[in-house]
Amino acid sequence: MNRIVYVNGKYLPEEEASVSIFDRGFLFADGVYEVTSVLEGKLIDFPGHLRRLARSLNELGMAKPCSDEELLEIHRQLVAQNNLEEGMIYLQVTRGAADRDFVFPKNATPTIVLFTQAKKLRNSPKINLGYKVITVPDLRWKRRDIKTVQLLYPSMAKMEATKAGADDAWLVEDGYITEGTSNNAYIVQSTGDIVTRNLSNDILHGITRASLLEFASAEGVRVVQRPFTVDEALEAEEAFITAASLFVAPVVEIDGKPIGSGKPGPVVSTLREIYLTKAMEKAI
Ligand code: PLP
Repeated sequence: MNRIVYVNGKYLPEEEASVSIFDRGFLFADGVYEVTSVLEGKLIDFPGHLRRLARSLNELGMAKPCSDEELLEIHRQLVAQNNLEEGMIYLQVTRGAADRDFVFPKNATPTIVLFTQAKKLRNSPKINLGYKVITVPDLRWKRRDIKTVQLLYPSMAKMEATKAGADDAWLVEDGYITEGTSNNAYIVQSTGDIVTRNLSNDILHGITRASLLEFASAEGVRVVQRPFTVDEALEAEEAFITAASLFVAPVVEIDGKPIGSGKPGPVVSTLREIYLTKAMEKAI
């Protein structure tokens, strides 16, 4: 891999890019991130990712490293310099480097890092097979609405899923599914209604979720935003997940038990098409 990455104002070959060992992102996971997908060299749902980045920074009292116009320019430069047709752009902002102390430093300069990851997103083989998930307790902190880089528990949950021969884990709290390790969770009921957990501090406010719900509602799909249980999910016709790097992807099995036919179903397939068509129209 020989990418050009962006670090604190500079475009550099990846092996020349570095950040301080005193960076609070490294020492305290004191940082936030965004992942924007790229299709046909264009940024998907970019204004939503900028809005959520601003919100995450604000919730943590962290300085904005640069303007939205500059962020757009950096994303576009990275797409161009890496000839990125399809994949993701990862952006991370930390509070910056300071001598180690739990108290936030007063005038730290934020660290900003961006890099590209080339990946086939639209024709991923998993879309035809569907995702298998296991359920695990949701042991994350209580501010899951902030997109922080403290991803150790989701990583552990994903490892547990992998060991169990599944693709991902759905996190469960008080009997209800909150979300996936790195995606929002949904079921499709026999009425055709889509059920997904309402927004609160319990889940990340997915940008793909926001767009999909808007696009689906415009097509007359009824969306109910409320928590749902594992049993409800097992009785559902279909289930799915959304995330920037997945768009809309079918879930076919929970804890070894099939959902509906145990195969990707027509509602999820239609929702994926709706999302991709409309998101591409808005891509920049
Ligand atoms: N929920 C969690 C915990 C996530 O980490 C993510 C994405 O990383 C999502 C949901 C989906 O969010 P988005 O659609 O903005 O990618």
